[in-house]
Amino acid sequence: MKYRLFCMAVSALLPICSVWAAPASPLPPAADQALGRTLYKELIEINTTHAHGSTDAARAIEKHLLEAGYAAADVVFIAPDDHPDKGNVIVRIHGKGKGKPVLFLGHLDVVEAKRDDWSVDPFKLTEKDGYFYGRGAMDMKDGIAAMLETFIRLRREGFVPDRDLIGAFTADEEAGGNANGPAFLLKEHRALIDAGLMVSFDGAGGDLKNGKRVAFRVATSEKTYITYTLETTSAGGHGSLPTPDNAIYRLVAGLGRIEAYRFPVMTTGTTRATFAKMADLDPGPQSADMRSVAAEPPDLAAAERLSQNVYFNAQLHTTCVATLISGGHAENALPQRAQATIQCRMMPGDTEQHVRETLTTVLNDPHITIKLDAPPIVSPESPVSKEFFGKVTRVVESMWPGAPVVPSMATGFGDSRQTRNAGIPSYDLSGRWMELGENRAHGRDERVGVQSFDENVEYTYRIVKAMGAK
Ligand SMILES: [Zn+2]
Repeated sequence: MKYRLFCMAVSALLPICSVWAAPASPLPPAADQALGRTLYKELIEINTTHAHGSTDAARAIEKHLLEAGYAAADVVFIAPDDHPDKGNVIVRIHGKGKGKPVLFLGHLDVVEAKRDDWSVDPFKLTEKDGYFYGRGAMDMKDGIAAMLETFIRLRREGFVPDRDLIGAFTADEEAGGNANGPAFLLKEHRALIDAGLMVSFDGAGGDLKNGKRVAFRVATSEKTYITYTLETTSAGGHGSLPTPDNAIYRLVAGLGRIEAYRFPVMTTGTTRATFAKMADLDPGPQSADMRSVAAEPPDLAAAERLSQNVYFNAQLHTTCVATLISGGHAENALPQRAQATIQCRMMPGDTEQHVRETLTTVLNDPHITIKLDAPPIVSPESPVSKEFFGKVTRVVESMWPGAPVVPSMATGFGDSRQTRNAGIPSYDLSGRWMELGENRAHGRDERVGVQSFDENVEYTYRIVKAMGAK
């Protein structure tokens, strides 16, 4: 605060004061701050890409938890028999039995990173220009380190919550995995992680605009991922004798109809809350439209105007888009077959059957078949409950006063779909603050602000403790 007075006096001379003037946010006690950073470094430097698996990291976490004083029975390492390299570790703090446990979830695996593509070694933690760099810096070795630090700190403090707190550090969240930890645990060892509520530190979190805290997002839901293959065939023949029946033209004509089609406007409790809150926060030219789509039923003309923006479009509709195409077998022959992949992201509450029937109607061609590639993991919305959001808001307010908490629906997906699909209300609420537009997760030079990381360690501790209260 004293910097603020100083800066007001000299702000004309020192523009940097606008940074100094931001009120300091709470950091963990010095020993916990140091431990958080030590764990972060250790975890980033254990390679957990698909090729390496997550077992080494899970074993390292198991060791820390046992050294912190957890009983051996309360720290369980477990890997599927056919994937011993895809280990998970689960820790439990016993509560007073007032209600079902709360599960905290974080994934250990990271996306591949090549040294040549990065300006620093992705598998070493590098501190530079106020940032920590490394693969997993923000997805999500930061969240894992903060979770582990929290469970160690709570053990040291002898904390006894009203209800059990479970920390699960799991394998294979990223695309291409073959041993997803939460799916394996829910299917084969449900008692280990069964809970009345799941909190993930992977998705959502804080949005900064030029350093200003504009929103703290809490994801209650995500869109469901569905992939279809369209296929059509024709008789084929010599390329010198074209016929009216051509698989490529037929398929392309069908794709054109899908391109022109827009799924009906759909809103959920979450997206209505998002639009209502955004209208209040950013009273710009679109706020009236945002308010109109937040009403029930939504104003379709307002939805149409907002849908010109790709982000709002994705919040208001199930979407389907062509992503791959192939056809024909020789440059001088008529095609006998053509195929396209259609990737859909379904709104919570929509159904796969409805999406497929809609596509069939829009294609309007019985000669194009439509096949579902894999059963979708349906992901219902978790309620925007007053009690839960009240708790989160109190913690966020204690950390970052004035930061607005905004319920949100993710357009991508994470592990919350596994627990939501298993009937456990699930929320993503990472304590990571990022500049809007800067998302280096999965990409090159992934990083997190040093200050933001330290604050995240304290935030995670406060959230876990708050959730333990009934
Ligand atoms: Zn992630």
